[in-house]
Amino acid sequence: MKKIALFPGSFDPFTKGHFDIVTRGLSLFDEIVIGIGTNINKKRFFPAKLMEDLIRQSFDGNDRIKVLSYDGLTAKVARELGARYILRGLRNTTDFEYENAISQVNRYVYEEIETVFLITSPHLAPISSSIVRDLYRYGQDVDEFLPYHLPPNLNHL
Ligand code: ADP
Repeated sequence: MKKIALFPGSFDPFTKGHFDIVTRGLSLFDEIVIGIGTNINKKRFFPAKLMEDLIRQSFDGNDRIKVLSYDGLTAKVARELGARYILRGLRNTTDFEYENAISQVNRYVYEEIETVFLITSPHLAPISSSIVRDLYRYGQDVDEFLPYHLPPNLNHL
């Protein structure tokens, strides 16, 4: 049976840290679905549709990677996709505390789901979406942190 993992996240924006987790995940799974979780109560900085396109562009032509946006419970989406695994990255103990809690919730929703954690590559550990967002907002070039080019001044977003 095909091993499918869902890699869920806000990805606001998707960074080189996320890219690294997906790339390394390819040695464990046949297919990885990158799921951009959207939440009507949480306003995004980069629209999900734009991020979907940029992520696809970064994995150019790799048919083992799928990208989609979703709303609702992550574990339910995983079940619908036939994904028995949730892939997540761990940078530090703060991530661990949070990830521990959500992985328990996900098993409550979908008992068979297993969350697989990959420890961040050390040189990518300091990268976080919120820091990239702040730098970008104040006009700093952030391409160094991203696996694609982000045009400056997307102020209309
Ligand atoms: P969420 O809002 O669900 O935490 P994020 O988009 O911030 O979503 O992160 C998605 C996943 O990627 C999380 O498991 C997070 O810990 C992991 N992650 C974020 N940044 C990095 C990084 N630099 N290296 C490795 N994993 C990361």
